Amino acid sequence: LRRNPGEIEFHQAVREVLESVGPVLGKHPEYAESKIIERICEPERQIIFRVPWADDSGEVHINRGFRVEFNSALGPYKGGLRFHPSVYLGIVKFLGFEQIFKNSLTGLPIGGGKGGSDFDPKGRSEREVMRFCQSFMTELYRHIGEYTDVPAGDIGVGGREVGFLFGQYKRITNRFESGVITGKGLSYGGAQVRTEATGYGCAFFVEEMLRARGTSFDGKTVVVSGSGNVAVYAIEKVEQLGGRVVACSDSAGYVVDDKGIDLELLKQIKQVERGRLETYAARRGDHVAFVPGRSVWEVPCEVAMPSATQNEITGRDAAKMVETGCVAVGEGANMPTTPEGIKIFLEAGVAFGPGKAANAGGVATSALEMQQNASRDSWTFETTELRLREIMRDIHGRCVETADEYGMPGNYVAGANIDGFRRVADAMLSLGLI
Ligand code: NDP
Repeated sequence: LRRNPGEIEFHQAVREVLESVGPVLGKHPEYAESKIIERICEPERQIIFRVPWADDSGEVHINRGFRVEFNSALGPYKGGLRFHPSVYLGIVKFLGFEQIFKNSLTGLPIGGGKGGSDFDPKGRSEREVMRFCQSFMTELYRHIGEYTDVPAGDIGVGGREVGFLFGQYKRITNRFESGVITGKGLSYGGAQVRTEATGYGCAFFVEEMLRARGTSFDGKTVVVSGSGNVAVYAIEKVEQLGGRVVACSDSAGYVVDDKGIDLELLKQIKQVERGRLETYAARRGDHVAFVPGRSVWEVPCEVAMPSATQNEITGRDAAKMVETGCVAVGEGANMPTTPEGIKIFLEAGVAFGPGKAANAGGVATSALEMQQNASRDSWTFETTELRLREIMRDIHGRCVETADEYGMPGNYVAGANIDGFRRVADAMLSLGLI
């Protein structure tokens, strides 16, 4: 704590992992002897830089850019870029730390990193966003590469931003190095299913948790928070799997739609018009209301898929959700449930899929994009979706087995943390004191 003052989200993420891995350290004294914990908590490298840019009226703005290259024991640093006004070192470090174990859990050869900026894309014109991305990459390019560090999107960074970032990288380096960033458009080296992967993957993970309890999505009432990349494709897959998504949200409030969220309308507003959720309610008809300024977690559901941001489900929300019949939670977002919330879900026997496992489909499909880039190949949508589904089943299976092995059956938090940790720790031991 003293070493990293004020980085509250980072402290929270570290504490959560350390609480789980205690029993592993008991079994493996070699981890403690070589100070794996101390080493794993210290990023290999952190880069903080100035991002100057001019808006459409010519006014100059200065933002701060970050890239935390946390751990490369398993492969090149891999993790997204977040553009949101709340971004500071503590957020980037929490995300980078989580990413190490998530990436390890996929079984694919990728290390952990994360980056971003306190730039707020809301209300900015496309040209302003492009100028910002170009300025951001003008510094970042010297730190990344196919074999070094491979960014992708996150909050505020979607296909459009990845295109601007890759374009500037290509221009500066004079290299068409597809493998330097993932989440690219299909016309310039992107992979099928990457856009859908995190949301789809989360739905597949929840499907597995429900199957393990002898049930399914069929006819279940589902609430998904957020209405961005992860949320939209979580809704799409849940609907395909027979669930009924009755509510979603953005930072201004939420909508409840008893007939089930109209995905085409939602995509039109959020992806084509880049509009707000309030417009959904206005266009969908009288049965839908926009509830401003409140948490979507007050809407009763059987399955919850928080897919907006960190710490959105509080202990109070969790208690209410359990009381009103929530049986499964799949975290599409990173760390959306507070520690108090997690405790309540686990004690109540809710099937709780932590983000490290449940939202790993995004980064796994990014690794598949890297594979296709390296072999100059491109797979079909069906093949890639099948791989994603297998990967999510695999992650689910490993969480279950590891939780069983450590005497905590059904505890996906312990399963994910322990399995993710062990692989990284073993690789670090093999690589010597680095
Ligand atoms: P987007 O920017 O596409 O969407 C984010 C959504 O969450 C928007 O609806 C946004 O509302 C809402 N939101 C963001 N910040 C807040 C906030 N502080 N309070 C309330 N609502 C908020 O991002 P993604 O869908 O890509 O990411 C969502 C989550 O999923 C994040 O936690 C991210 O780290 C995680 N994730 C994403 C992956 C990916 O592949 N994209 C992979 C793995 C995890 P508004 O528009 O009003 O801001």
